Amino acid sequence: MPACWRPGIDGGQPGAYDTAMGSDPSLVLRARAHRAEDSLRPTRAEIDLDAIAANFHATRALADRPVLAVVKCDAYGHGVLPVALRLAQEGVHGFGVALAEEGLELREAGVEQMILVMNGVYGDAHGAVLAAGLSPVVYRLEEVERFAAAANGPFEVHLKIDTGMHRLGIPMAELDRFLDGFAAVQGATIAGVMTHLAAAEDDDALTHRQLDAFDDALARVRARGHEPRWCHAANSAATVRHPRARYDLVRTGGALWGHPGYDSAAAPVDVKGAMRLRTEIVSLKTIEPGEIVGYCGTFRAERPSRIAALPVGYGDGLVRFQSNRGHVLIRGQRCPIAGNISMDLTSVDVTDLPDVAIGDEAVLLGEQGGARIRVEEVAEACGTIPYEIFTSVSRRVPRFYV
Ligand SMILES: *Cc1c(COP(=O)(O)O)cnc(C)c1O
Repeated sequence: MPACWRPGIDGGQPGAYDTAMGSDPSLVLRARAHRAEDSLRPTRAEIDLDAIAANFHATRALADRPVLAVVKCDAYGHGVLPVALRLAQEGVHGFGVALAEEGLELREAGVEQMILVMNGVYGDAHGAVLAAGLSPVVYRLEEVERFAAAANGPFEVHLKIDTGMHRLGIPMAELDRFLDGFAAVQGATIAGVMTHLAAAEDDDALTHRQLDAFDDALARVRARGHEPRWCHAANSAATVRHPRARYDLVRTGGALWGHPGYDSAAAPVDVKGAMRLRTEIVSLKTIEPGEIVGYCGTFRAERPSRIAALPVGYGDGLVRFQSNRGHVLIRGQRCPIAGNISMDLTSVDVTDLPDVAIGDEAVLLGEQGGARIRVEEVAEACGTIPYEIFTSVSRRVPRFYV
């Protein structure tokens, strides 16, 4: 086992992942498909679990609340099991996932903390969700009734209130009617009440309107004798920027990966990027002025040029919009992407790097030799946000835990 394999549940000893999987062979196989040691290609995402742990501790210290680590979508592309097992070891209160199947995967891996299924339960999984001890979020009475039928006894839910984002949640105008109906469902207890903020990073007026509505909703819930233990509203941006949004726990995703979706330069908490995307040069050639590079010939050399090929492409999550726009780091220098990014390959103009050689490392995200490609820079160039850049790094790229 290489030293890189550190899922972090038993002090970094090899085999921890297998142990976490229990004896289910399909889970073990699924995990192995991503094992760094099985990858031949030098393209990989290096995930710094120590950075994630430090970001967690910094966030929890600032919030002074239990942290629900939001690990939906494979921990925003960082690899959910190693990340979750490490955060569990660090003392995280629980985990937030979007889907029931994401929550079940965590339970099967041995996670014992609270797991909140934030977007509701689709399909026919109500019984399985309760049996696994997941905490479901509900926003329609029919869902509560389905849980009651599946539970055949007492069960707990978190209510999601729509305070203005208008995506999911019980509309404020329907809350009283919802609570009337809820009272008639046998066995149901409100363990938590939550809302989600639409623009905690920059629209303070909207955020305060949403939080005022949430306070009103909490008062109405309590007025009927419910005693929700967990009231929660804060994503990363609200955790940092809006102390009043912290309530009983904070739901933090982006801040854990070091890219919190707010202006981190202005934030009172120091977090560090946790993903580095790297590969190595596999081919080098010289082309003459007028010759083209890549599909459709969108790069045409204006001088004798050295072109390096990298075994990484849009099939790995390198957004094709970066063709002829983005940069990679080689020998600590920024080198422009030349021509169209292909599915499996990307070419780079390395004419200005005289000593460049096959096997040199190329960094697509993160640091090399003091230089840095910031995910914010890539996201902005692609007209998107850092979260989409991370979640785009595809299954084919092994996550390598350093
Ligand atoms: C994704 C999500 C979060 C976390 O948001 P970050 O900006 O990543 O901190 C919190 N709550 C809900 C409901 C979410 O869907």
